[in-house]
Amino acid sequence: MMFSMDTDFGSLVFNESVMKDRLPADIYKSLLSTMITRAPLDINVANVVASAMKNWAVEKGVTHFTHWFQPMTGVTAEKHEAFISVKPGGGVIMEFSGKELVRGEPDASSFPTGGIRATFEARGYTAWDPTSYAFIKGNVLCIPTAFCSYSGEALDKKTPLLRSMQAISKEGRRLLKLFGEKDDVDVLANVGAEQEYFLIDQTMYDKRPDLIYCGRTLFGSRPPKGQDLEDHYFGAIKPRVAAYMKELDETLWRLGIASKTKHNEVAPAQHELAAIYESVNIATDHNQLIMELMKIIAPNYGLTCLLHEKPFAGVNGSGKHNNWSIATSTGENLLDPGNTPYKNARFLLFLSAVIKAVDEHQDLLRISVATAANDHRLGANEAPPAIISVFLGEELTEILDTIKKGVIYKQREETPMEIGVDVLPVFPKDTTDRNRTSPFAFTGNKFEFRMVGSSLSIAGPNFILNTIVADAMSQFADELEKAEDFIAAVNALVKRTIVEHERIIFNGNNYSEEWLVEAEERGLLNLATTADALPLFITDKNVELFEKHGVLMRSEVLSRAELLMENYVKTIHIEALTMIDLTHRCIIPAVIDYTRRALDSLQKKNSMNINLALDTTLETKLVERLAGLSGTLQKDLDSLEDAVMQAAKCGDATESARYYGTEVFYSMQALRGSVDELETLVGGKDWPMPTYGEILYSVK
Ligand code: ADP
Ligand code: MG
Repeated sequence: MMFSMDTDFGSLVFNESVMKDRLPADIYKSLLSTMITRAPLDINVANVVASAMKNWAVEKGVTHFTHWFQPMTGVTAEKHEAFISVKPGGGVIMEFSGKELVRGEPDASSFPTGGIRATFEARGYTAWDPTSYAFIKGNVLCIPTAFCSYSGEALDKKTPLLRSMQAISKEGRRLLKLFGEKDDVDVLANVGAEQEYFLIDQTMYDKRPDLIYCGRTLFGSRPPKGQDLEDHYFGAIKPRVAAYMKELDETLWRLGIASKTKHNEVAPAQHELAAIYESVNIATDHNQLIMELMKIIAPNYGLTCLLHEKPFAGVNGSGKHNNWSIATSTGENLLDPGNTPYKNARFLLFLSAVIKAVDEHQDLLRISVATAANDHRLGANEAPPAIISVFLGEELTEILDTIKKGVIYKQREETPMEIGVDVLPVFPKDTTDRNRTSPFAFTGNKFEFRMVGSSLSIAGPNFILNTIVADAMSQFADELEKAEDFIAAVNALVKRTIVEHERIIFNGNNYSEEWLVEAEERGLLNLATTADALPLFITDKNVELFEKHGVLMRSEVLSRAELLMENYVKTIHIEALTMIDLTHRCIIPAVIDYTRRALDSLQKKNSMNINLALDTTLETKLVERLAGLSGTLQKDLDSLEDAVMQAAKCGDATESARYYGTEVFYSMQALRGSVDELETLVGGKDWPMPTYGEILYSVK
């Protein structure tokens, strides 16, 4: 069926227009107010809403519903329940009650909790998040929900995100009030995520156990051509990929997800999709759906979608640029400079809050993107380094500099600029001015956080971002609420913030060696690996921050840190085991076979050389090199096996993480080196797995 934007966009979403159509006016109003104020819903209202939802869904062929939630695994979870209940005397009726809509008890006791439920309740429950619309996926009505323990602790990614939105709202409103804004104007965080991914031929994927088990290749020597010519970037999209993208777009549009931009990325077989920004909670739900559908739709075209941060060594990995801004509920972007003295003062204050937040919480931002997979990208000349800094662009930096020094800005004639009195000079939002190497770049009216990994839920980075900015806003509000002369106080505060936090501003090349040195001189953190970063999650400073803003309790911080650490260790452990298994069962047999054939040829020639004078240089050299490398391979394999054995002796999760991040990881790299070299020696037909060249150029 032809897709029509008019009738099909959002057709699978129980959105406001459907609600308005299908709900009695008073119920609709009551639901809308719950969506805005997040106040609990009356059970009578919930009953009517549930019944309308069910009728709407059943008309579309739906038979089941699920509470759709986001446990700490980073992917979404669902447990389908049919709408049926048994009628007395036989037969069934289709039913969906308000109680079932509002609260679910999925048991779900096998989800990771980082120890929370060991000490509290064995089971969790799901609670409807009315701020995110219900939608239909397949024949299932999905109800977005938060997942908590009975004692109220968050067991998911959504709960802290929702709590952090409340913090932004609360502290943002305090500041707006000082600027004379009305009481009912709310402050929201908005996010637009740009999702990178790889598409490879499914037949190639099926032959690579490393991709199957780990999502990334653990072996593979560089092909003669990688991304060197950068001819894939923005190149013409191949018909098979285009057909895939079309189905993906249309599926997303039906779900009300405004997929907007698609293009080929830098690495061969790499692509990107960006959806239009929306409220951070919805953007997070939508990004989860985007990732899920990317994977689900690929096989329809004989393709496999790889969302791993670094599926191939030596070519770019995938990230997810997280474009973040804060706006009023009346639609004004608070990070937009505007063109009146009033708006400029407001802009400079919110901008200063972000700068202060990033500088004071470099550790948390780094932690928010810390995974074993993402460690392969950060600092590898394709993504920003592990050092957090802020890019503002020369023009804006210069403006801040003049404010700081109280000197005259070049475009002005006589007096220094005064915040709240003067209008900021216009500074270019030109894309050519953009610094692509910065981890946290101001791009005209939003910040682009570029360290996020492609497969990561954006809930983590955004709940951290919201919390740290809310904290800076809260400190600002504390100070400004006491001020006698508000504008003078804003002036002083902005000035002081620039002086105190200018070390975090860096407009140069973040990939350069010099920056590493300079950043250290500036006292910025450089947490190279997840194992370095995660222990800082649970410092008193961080626990106090989360508790102050009601985003996480101490026990929740501890359990999350524990989980992230465990996940890091498990990821590397699985990779190491996969490598060992592949080496024993695929690589060694191939090398032995090939060596035997080379030896056979050598032997044959030698036996003929009673009468002939056949040159045996090739066989001799080949056999010698194969034998030499086989020896190294065995040594590297022994070391890796030994490292994995030793790992079991580590005391706690932190020690384990350190050990896996160094000893095990280095042994894996050594083994990979030997295998990759062998790959270049063994005949193409004899190598047991498709090569990088075959995989990366598999989609014709
Ligand atoms: P690029 O960064 O590739 O030049 P854009 O800046 O147009 O592209 O947009 C990238 C992403 O940023 C999109 O998802 C877009 O919707 C989002 N975006 C644009 N404006 C905002 C904003 N004010 N707040 C949050 N995200 C935004
Ligand atoms: Mg961008």
